[in-house]
Amino acid sequence: MKFIFVTGGVLSGLGKGITASSIGRLLKARGLNVSAIKIDPYLNLDAGTMNPFEHGEVYVLDDGAEVDLDLGNYERFMDAKLSREHNITTGKVYASVIEKERRGDYLGKTVQIIPHITNEIKEIITRVTRSTDADVMIIELGGTVGDIESMPFLEAVRQLGMEVGREENCTFVHTTLVPILGSVGEQKTKPTQHSVKELMSIGIKPDIIVGRSSAPLEEGIRKKISLFCDVPPEAVISAPDAKSIYQVPITLEAQGVAEYIIKRMRLTHLAKKMDMADWNQFLSRVLNHSRDVTIALVGKYTHLADSYLSHLEAFTHAGAKEDCKVNVRFIDSDEITPQTAPALLGDVDGVIIPGGFGIRGVEGKITATTFAREKGIPYSGVCLGFQVATIEIARNVLGLKDANSTEFDPRTPHPVIDIMPEQKGSCKMGGTMRLGSQKVMIAEGTRAHQLYGATEAMERHRHRYEVNPKYIESLEGAGWKFSGRSEDLHRMEIGELEGHPYFVASQFHPEFKSRPSSPTPIHLGLVRAAIAYKDGKA
Ligand code: GLN
Repeated sequence: MKFIFVTGGVLSGLGKGITASSIGRLLKARGLNVSAIKIDPYLNLDAGTMNPFEHGEVYVLDDGAEVDLDLGNYERFMDAKLSREHNITTGKVYASVIEKERRGDYLGKTVQIIPHITNEIKEIITRVTRSTDADVMIIELGGTVGDIESMPFLEAVRQLGMEVGREENCTFVHTTLVPILGSVGEQKTKPTQHSVKELMSIGIKPDIIVGRSSAPLEEGIRKKISLFCDVPPEAVISAPDAKSIYQVPITLEAQGVAEYIIKRMRLTHLAKKMDMADWNQFLSRVLNHSRDVTIALVGKYTHLADSYLSHLEAFTHAGAKEDCKVNVRFIDSDEITPQTAPALLGDVDGVIIPGGFGIRGVEGKITATTFAREKGIPYSGVCLGFQVATIEIARNVLGLKDANSTEFDPRTPHPVIDIMPEQKGSCKMGGTMRLGSQKVMIAEGTRAHQLYGATEAMERHRHRYEVNPKYIESLEGAGWKFSGRSEDLHRMEIGELEGHPYFVASQFHPEFKSRPSSPTPIHLGLVRAAIAYKDGKA
């Protein structure tokens, strides 16, 4: 077993996830089998109940796990398929230890953080690694070195490193901040020195230091970090702010990171020549375009871009394919009223309503939908957005006044969106929705069929409410056709509006399946329609 541990120092949000993903991509491009695990030192069992305002989006895996958004980066960068075991939280570790304690597994011993929690962490990591055929497992430790919460994990991986062979079987990568002081314009190494010292006090000496800075590390600074932190100069990696996250693997590769790791971990016999041709081509399409469109994303978590990360990435993938820069304009749904809609949405080339929970902002989303429908602006709705589109059409095309979802108005006279029967009576919030990858049947001769080029697709889900079967016929009569349905045909999965240039919404979350090499059909369709719409205006 070979491990790369990625830690972070100085402050959070330095892009450890992108560093881990980029290293993964590079090793993959050298022909190695790579997988990744994210450790989140919080007590939540998973990210399912967490507010996107605080942590960014909840990413959903094929198996229905609701996980940290970094797993989305791993899947996108490494083209990997991960499962719930690849996200370890403090909550998961404790739950398992407490269960063992109740079972009597510890034979009367006092159960302690060391060794019981640390052993459990090592066991989980080892088990997950064995279950994959990865040559290298990348393990990213969330949080910042020095946090109380991270301590048991750092201790566990320190021990693990020693057990598997500290030199050739593991590499510790430490990501730190190298700030530039405004007044002097000089890169400062002291925060890095301190955070490496902190890491060393736990018994971990980094093998590679990734210095995040707004500019490339100056040569002198690289040498200084090397000298003071006791790593060779070629293992001090400069990671300046990038125009696109997809540039980071290239930046790291230019400094020989993959080769350094491969040599260090004696993987030369498995490694092939680097092949980043596809990636480079994709990157150049991300950075250079001959046209652009503006798509309004109308949501309620709009002050934190990470809340909609997978949508942003899906638009990047779709834009790269269409030689088009997609400018996503975040609009707080609370601000949209019939009076403000023309000013807020009048000049956009497309509208997307993403997923969400709870009533706040829903009326604004419905108003945005009316505006896009009436003005013929390309439109997509995802999950809650699909439900909003259904409510809007029920109210304003079918004339069912006060139609709503029972999530927002339990007493609505027209519950066009209703809780799924199996969800009724469930009072547990965590892990209880319709989750993960499910088959979608696509009707031939529909726009969805054109978009997917297939009659079946696997798509990821995360919801409790869906189209009420009682209204299917009348909604379809109003032109809202359900061109995608679940395998038993009972659940409505895709809606498309007749007579509109592009008005397609899905109950599932296509954004979680979008990859640089294969943008999701729903976002790609929206981008293409937005380009045509903009051309039409010109
Ligand atoms: N709140 C809606 C539901 O539970 C939509 C969920 C979502 O957008 N992910 O069905």
